[in-house]
Amino acid sequence: MGTAVTVSPVKHFDAIIIGTGQAGPPMAARFAAVGKTVAIIERDKFGGTCVNTGCTPTKTLVASAEAIHFVRRGAEYGFSVGDLRVDMTRVKARKDEASARSSKGVEQWLRGTTNCTVIQGQARFRSPNTVMVNDEVLQADKIFINVGGRARVPEMPGIHDVPFLTNSSMMDIDFLPEHFIIVGGSYVGLEFAQIYRRFGSEVTIVEMGPRLIGREDEDVSQAVREILEAESIQVRLNAKCISLARRDGGVAVGLTCEEGPPEVAGTHVLLAVGRVPNTSDLGLERAGVTTDQRGYIIVDDQLQTNVPGIWALGDCNGRGAFTHTSYNDYEIVADNLFNGDDRRVSDRIQAYALYTDPPLGRCGATDAEIRKYGRHALVAKYPMSRVSRAYEKGETQGFMKICVDAATKQILGAAILGVGGDEVIHVLLDVMYAKAPYTVIQRAMHIHPTVAEYLPTVLAKLEPLT
Ligand SMILES: Cc1cc2nc3c(=O)[nH]c(=O)nc-3n(C[C@H](O)[C@H](O)[C@H](O)COP(=O)(O)OP(=O)(O)OC[C@H]3O[C@@H](n4cnc5c(N)ncnc54)[C@H](O)[C@@H]3O)c2cc1C
Repeated sequence: MGTAVTVSPVKHFDAIIIGTGQAGPPMAARFAAVGKTVAIIERDKFGGTCVNTGCTPTKTLVASAEAIHFVRRGAEYGFSVGDLRVDMTRVKARKDEASARSSKGVEQWLRGTTNCTVIQGQARFRSPNTVMVNDEVLQADKIFINVGGRARVPEMPGIHDVPFLTNSSMMDIDFLPEHFIIVGGSYVGLEFAQIYRRFGSEVTIVEMGPRLIGREDEDVSQAVREILEAESIQVRLNAKCISLARRDGGVAVGLTCEEGPPEVAGTHVLLAVGRVPNTSDLGLERAGVTTDQRGYIIVDDQLQTNVPGIWALGDCNGRGAFTHTSYNDYEIVADNLFNGDDRRVSDRIQAYALYTDPPLGRCGATDAEIRKYGRHALVAKYPMSRVSRAYEKGETQGFMKICVDAATKQILGAAILGVGGDEVIHVLLDVMYAKAPYTVIQRAMHIHPTVAEYLPTVLAKLEPLT
């Protein structure tokens, strides 16, 4: 006697959304708001990377680390406290509270939305318009993929022999690693490096390239390196052949560098060497959706995949790697679908921050990119040490740099590495979106004392970019 196979009836929706990252939930709410039925599927924690293992927890940790750093500098500000002891379980609890609050918020929002069906499980395409989750078959003419990404774990020698941490497993840490080796000197690695140094760990950053945050201009990379080294973080660059091995109850990271000792020994290692999209277990081949060689879903300028009726939003499309780019993907697609708009990814201006202390706010192109375009440009640079708000606060590290087009006077790019840099950068970003000349900033009255009030002063120093 054969076993009876139960086939669930197909459930029909106007839209299916896979993943509850930064684009999926608002898209679900948008469909539901106009009376359309929508199913949203999540296999893990609601809110995705940003809320659970990315922005929210790391910025909560940055805040703890910054508070600790201020206490250590108490004498400079005219106070002293007794012995400083960092309670890592409390630090973790504070972080967990922030993440849980956001994740719960997303879940409650979705579950409380009329017309929205929330399903927990792993979604896989069965055809271009059907998706399997658990044993349910869902069908919709419009499907939105918002599956995000995860930490890349490269096949390096020793990777299978040594326990290592990623940004996800870092979330469970409630103790202080004695000597933390951070492999990867880019945005994620640098934030964790400074956080744990301030908590009290010895920290070594191991970077394959010739400088930290290699996508930035050299002067930015160098200044960030100096800021980290001033806090006694060790930086090892040009680590061409990184390997892991067990050593004395801890871990040794082989570097084979051009200079310095060939290996660094520590107690814990974090891999912060990039991200990979969550697209290999999605059944994309059954839908006919194409990806590039790295697994990113190929989309057009309006975020449609090669299959009509399927869009890919957020990190999984390789067109951005930030919370705001994912949310902006949602805005582009939703405005095009619901408002008959014609928005495009290429309309947006690159902008992001590195949340070291002081932070780096960035918008538009780097000097190197501008030189490559061959545009006649002007550049101005100004040290934070001459900004009164900065020296009043005792936070004078970094500089502001702005690059403008010599002919149109429009801002091409900026880097603000300094106190408030993550906020001040928006003054320049909004002027860029307005396509206004930089001279409007020079005619605006700004508030004193602020960092932003110095933007006209910086712009008064423009000279040719060589
Ligand atoms: C340590 C760290 C710090 C960061 N800090 C910042 C920052 O300060 N600012 C910033 O802008 N960005 C930051 N980022 C990047 C930011 O977190 C991501 O760009 C953002 O979360 C991308 O969101 P997303 O919408 O693409 O998807 P994600 O947030 O990754 O969500 C995808 C969701 O889909 C689910 N999923 C995947 N596959 C399936 C499936 N088959 N079925 C069902 N569900 C599935 C996942 O479980 C997940 O919940 C940081 C990232 C890291 C790692």
